[in-house]
Parts: sequence; structure tokens; C-alpha cells
Amino acid sequence: HPSSPRRGRFAPSPTGPLHAGSLLAALGSWLFARSAGGEWHVRIEDIDPPREVAGAADAQLRGLHRLGLHPDGPVARQSTRGALYARALERLLDQGDAFVCHCSRSALAAHDGIHRRCVAGARRRDPSIRLRVPEGTHIAFDDAIQGHVAEDVHATTGDVVLRRADGFWAYQLAVVVDDAAQGMTDVVRGADLLGSTARQIVLQQRLGLPTPHYAHLPLLLDARGHKLSKSLDALPFDDRDPGAALAFAWQRLGQHALATSTGDPQDWLAMAATAFDPSRVPRGPLAASHNAGGMDA
Ligand code: GLU
Repeated sequence: HPSSPRRGRFAPSPTGPLHAGSLLAALGSWLFARSAGGEWHVRIEDIDPPREVAGAADAQLRGLHRLGLHPDGPVARQSTRGALYARALERLLDQGDAFVCHCSRSALAAHDGIHRRCVAGARRRDPSIRLRVPEGTHIAFDDAIQGHVAEDVHATTGDVVLRRADGFWAYQLAVVVDDAAQGMTDVVRGADLLGSTARQIVLQQRLGLPTPHYAHLPLLLDARGHKLSKSLDALPFDDRDPGAALAFAWQRLGQHALATSTGDPQDWLAMAATAFDPSRVPRGPLAASHNAGGMDA
């Protein structure tokens, strides 16, 4: 549709090199956008300095470059976009949808770590700011891969941190503000973020922002069945062999093998964008390594 072009993004946190899971998210988001004739952008989510690894963002961008995944426009960095998050937070405070919270993690431990009202405790010098998620906050959406999701957000997550007690912006606020500000129509990312989506839709509604289409790619598991990104086996893929890396991700996305004559990633990608069939992408979880059979569900 020429009047409403599709736009997708890959939004890595600079906490390490690209690994098999981020490779899947990069290629998956690129394919969903490109196969629909849309744009693809890259956003570095560098709002969590305590977790950031020096040089990781540049290494990730170099990896994407070697894979032939070139963004349609400048790379956005969340560390430079604080004014946008501040404006959104102000609006939520003005509306009475956000509030200052002095609850400590230990005080919330007695409530499964879920905040539904402030529990008695000392006022803290550095409070957090939360989004109020009242009873009856039901969210439902249709994920292009994972199917229908319905969630009672008050029950599952409670009040959502928007600005952390240490003063940093919370991922949930930044991602919602940026996806809307950058005009993203399609959010394609790992299934580890499926559980964040309902919260993000609540935030979109409070801010009067549109809800994009969601597609959560299959989770990759290591040989012991652990989430790859959380395991010691989350080794960086070999970006000196971009063809093998792309073929690996393509196979994990449930697609039929492609035969190219040139071995040039650019030719392979052009063919992949045409051949991509989103309906073939499995829900997962999937075994990450080729020789760890039996886990493909
Ligand atoms: N920065 C997040 C991550 O690397 C992904 C955010 C997103 O795609 O919404 O896990």
C-alpha cells in the first residue's frame, strides 16, 4: 500500500556481540519489512549504562554491515533521545497515569515483586516513576507468529516502571516512545519479549499512540534447553562467514534453502526477500545448534 509503507526495525541492546538470537531478530525483522516492500531501521538501545559493554554497539553495526543488512537511514541511539521520553513521562504524570513510587524491591518481594499499590516503607531519596495499571486492564493482540495473546496486565505485571530508581529510563517507555516516533508499523523481535508486549500496548493507549503489528520470532535454546541469550553458550556467530550465518537464520525461520550462484550476501538477500514466507516461521522454541537435534518443536 503506497500510502502506508511498512516500516520495521532491529533494536539491539549493546550488551555484547551479535549472537544467534540477535542474528535471527536482525534477519527476521529485515525479511518482514523487505518482503513487504517496506523500510528497515536500526536502533541502538543504549539506555542502560550499567549493562552496556564498551564497543558492543559498534561491533553489532559492523556485524550487520558484513551480513549485508543495511538500514534505510541513520542509526538511532536511545541515549540521545531522552527529551522524547521525558515529554511522554510528563504527559503520563499530568494525566494521573503515572506516579512517584518509593517502594523498594525488597518491600515488593512479599508481593511476588509485582507492584499493585504502594506498600508502606521509608521514602527513598531516589524514587522510581511507574505507570498505573489498574484492575481490569485487559489487553489482547494477534501476533503474526505466536498467535492470539490475551493478558490481564494488572494481574501479570502490575504497575510498570517508567523511570528507574537509579534515574535511567526503563526499556518499556523508551521502546514505546521510539517505535511511535519513528513510525514503526511492524515490531519483529525475539519471543523473549512477547511478555513485554501487553505492557507496551497499555502504554501506547495511555499515550494515544498507534499499536504496531507484532511478530515474535522463535526462541533459540542451547543444548541443555536453556534460553540462548541467558546462557554461556550465547557465543557470537562467525561474521567472517556471513553466508553461513544468514543460511543458519533462514533455516531457523522455517524457510526452504535458497540456491545462489554468486555467494554474495547481497544477491542472497535479494532472493530471500522475494522468497520469504512468513507463514512458515515456527513458533519455537528451537535448538540453536545444528547438531542439537530433537528440540525443534
Ligand atoms: N533492545 C531489546 C533487546 O535487545 C529489544 C527491543 C525490541 O526489539 O523491542 O532485547
